[in-house]
Amino acid sequence: MIRIAMPNKGRLAEPSRELIKQAGLTFSHISGRALQAKLGEEFLALFVRANDIPEFVADGAADLGITGRDLVRESGRSLRELLDLEFGRCRLAVAVRDEDTVRSVDDIPDGTPVATSFPVTSEAFFAAKGRRVTLVPVSGAAEIAPHLGVADIIVDLVSTGSTLKTNGLREISTVMESSAVLVGRSGVPEGGEDDAIVRDLTDALESVVCAKNKRYLMANVPRSALDEVRRVLPGVSGPTIIDILNGGNLVAAHAVIGQSEAFAAIARLRQLGATGILLTKIERLSP
Ligand code: AMP
Repeated sequence: MIRIAMPNKGRLAEPSRELIKQAGLTFSHISGRALQAKLGEEFLALFVRANDIPEFVADGAADLGITGRDLVRESGRSLRELLDLEFGRCRLAVAVRDEDTVRSVDDIPDGTPVATSFPVTSEAFFAAKGRRVTLVPVSGAAEIAPHLGVADIIVDLVSTGSTLKTNGLREISTVMESSAVLVGRSGVPEGGEDDAIVRDLTDALESVVCAKNKRYLMANVPRSALDEVRRVLPGVSGPTIIDILNGGNLVAAHAVIGQSEAFAAIARLRQLGATGILLTKIERLSP
């Protein structure tokens, strides 16, 4: 069985399980073992802390892992990123107090204390910028550190920026962008027995990720408007045009479009005389 380490709690836990289910795999709990579940016939899910997942995969306790790219980087372990899962989006950012005169990383004086729960990543970032700061490792809630006099600067995860704002902090630089990723061990020779199964899983997950912001649009359109319909619905490889039995001068046009394009496309199709317009979500899309 191929072992996949997945976050047992926290903000990555639920979206990870949801993604796996959408890819068509079903969790069946092994009696008495809440920390493991069978996933179809070929996979075993191991529920562990998101922070521990990079180590577990690097050490071979799991074959694959789903966790944050930030946590992979911070672990210092070299892992192979197989797929960006596109949830848990955030950035690791450098922030100072609102009233601080520091405008950029270049303004940070040597020896400035920097509170962070990402000391490895932060150290590498400041070293690459030629800054010699004093890291103050904290296990969480770094945003409180400037107010306690523990540090003048923090390096912390930000998604909307509202926590920084609430705490009177201002972002001055981005250390890295992060999102959830599927990782495997690096340096494993390709062509092994499990490769094809891992490939099938990666493809299935990718098809779910790919479908998320896409919609399937169907409309009955006048045959005479097909040139314009093609411009409105470029689709993956052009719209599919289907004859309608007794459709008269109408034909059915089907196409995949971006969710954000749907509003304008439907309005335009209606101007062209389209009827019976249907827009649906797509579960999986393998272009
Ligand atoms: P957890 O602490 O278990 O809830 O998970 C934290 C992980 O969620 C981080 O390592 C990031 O990969 C991801 N994440 C996404 N947005 C944020 C955010 N605004 N704050 C903290 N973690 C975030």
